[in-house]
Amino acid sequence: MSAESPSHFIRDIIEDDRRTKKHDGRVVTRFPPEPNGYLHIGHAKSICLNFGLAQQYGGVCHLRFDDTNPAKEDVEYVDAIMADVRWLGFDWADKLFYASDYFERLFDFAMRLIDDGKAYVDSLSAEDIRAYRGTFTEPGRNSPHRDRSVAENRDLFTRMRAGEFDDGAHVLRAKIDMASPNINLRDPTLYRIRRTPHHRTGDQWCIYPLYDFTHCLSDSLEGITHSICTLEFEIHRPLYDWVLDELATPCHPQQIEFARLNLTYTVMSKRKLLTLVTGGHVRGWDDPRMPTISGFRRRGYTPEAIRAFCDSVGVAKRDSVVDVAMLEHSIREDLNRRAPRVMAVLHPIKVVIENYPEDQVEELEAINNPEDPAAGTRRLPFTRELYIEQDDFMEEPPSKFFRLAPGREVRLRYAYIIKCKRVVKDPATGAVVELRCSYDPETRSGSASSGRKVKATLHWVSARHALTAEVRLYDRLFTVEDPDTGKEGDWLTTLNPAALTILPDCKLEPSLAAARSGERFQFERQGYFCVDPDTTADRLVFNRTVTLRDTWAKIQAGGR
Ligand code: ATP
Ligand code: MG
Repeated sequence: MSAESPSHFIRDIIEDDRRTKKHDGRVVTRFPPEPNGYLHIGHAKSICLNFGLAQQYGGVCHLRFDDTNPAKEDVEYVDAIMADVRWLGFDWADKLFYASDYFERLFDFAMRLIDDGKAYVDSLSAEDIRAYRGTFTEPGRNSPHRDRSVAENRDLFTRMRAGEFDDGAHVLRAKIDMASPNINLRDPTLYRIRRTPHHRTGDQWCIYPLYDFTHCLSDSLEGITHSICTLEFEIHRPLYDWVLDELATPCHPQQIEFARLNLTYTVMSKRKLLTLVTGGHVRGWDDPRMPTISGFRRRGYTPEAIRAFCDSVGVAKRDSVVDVAMLEHSIREDLNRRAPRVMAVLHPIKVVIENYPEDQVEELEAINNPEDPAAGTRRLPFTRELYIEQDDFMEEPPSKFFRLAPGREVRLRYAYIIKCKRVVKDPATGAVVELRCSYDPETRSGSASSGRKVKATLHWVSARHALTAEVRLYDRLFTVEDPDTGKEGDWLTTLNPAALTILPDCKLEPSLAAARSGERFQFERQGYFCVDPDTTADRLVFNRTVTLRDTWAKIQAGGR
């Protein structure tokens, strides 16, 4: 987070705390993912906020895996999460923690609540517990087991841990207030039986603590000062505070809630993202259509662009939906500064320059990046046979079409003005397969007589030198702005079948022969592209990161 980025209410809280020497002026935050899926762009906002605040105030940010639900968690996710946080540019140093490392201490805390008469073992079924809980308008009722003696609770809870009971036979509940207007305080469940092995603790445990019990105590055990989470936890805050107050823990972190990031045309829940992966709707968690950090990375996004985006969306107290065009704007801004320009023809059509000598090759000088003079220049071979883009030619051009057409002239970038003399058609289909052209040798770019004006400049690639590549074009994964709303199950029907288009036979300038996986380029007039890891020694594969059309810049200009 840059020093110039606008302030927000969480910074204000921290600055107040530092002034009043609360927590001795220290700032210790944490990012607490549950390892049940890959991180998405919403998590990036939380990562940038937590690590950014720690950086800004000379504190530390812990990475803590909130791994209390063994049925859904896996080491694959743990590893992917660590890789993603590092790639985003953040470092937890030696502050790597797992809630599962606290299981023994959490058990002891639970015993203390039992001893203090603040927790009891309930033996109602899950269904009955729900029925007894009441509703928003009606208070709950006490469970018939609520007044078990301390001795009986100790005995049952110990035997729950020892594996004497089946899943669901008993739970441990906090004894707070079944009539509380806040449903979270109506004797919330603290522990449940799950005879499922855990990816870190193996079969050591068959009872697992729930989030509301685990999270506040983990924060406290680690000496967190500011426990920043999303708004849906606001109504859990009284429970967070109740647990820490009842157990008189030495450190009582402050829970602060902010609005989660939502994006148009995007689903963000891990459950839904998992459905996309397991249902085969995408190729994996790192499919470039996915809003995951690994998906954005594969698509060609930079960590700088994602951080700049997270900075620019700000931190608010009210939920809102951010236009995905704003994220696309961030990556364009970044790549415009640093991506080398190259020429690539995605939908090739052959051009033959009839008056250009058969065997001649001219080396033309091309600028690598007009935004960065230090990037220098490169040489491009120009020959008699070239490829241009199919849609840069029209046989019968409408009035506003200024590119190539029969009898028309255009400039080839860094090269000459050419004129279309006639078209060659496939006799069977009638499709235009080749353009026969002439060139004007006096018009070479940069020469004294190059000043003649034409209305269009086209990109091109020498046919003899061209590399063939597969290019994958991506569009939004959903056809509607708000795929997340609507009835359960409906969201899958709004998947965009055109979100991936594969072009197997694109023609690239020869300098790209050395391009390595992850390298990013601007294909002139088309967009930004990145080498996909599917690339092999004899097959180049590119992903389109984003087109050049900046709809967000237009929206902003319109607003002004
Ligand atoms: P999801 O609802 O997508 O499954 P989650 O909140 O269950 O996500 P966690 O792994 O628990 O996922 O999230 C880790 C941290 O990231 C939490 O502090 C959570 O508040 C934060 N976070 C998750 N989604 C977003 C989001 N869309 N915007 C901002 N922060 C988020
Ligand atoms: Mg969660």
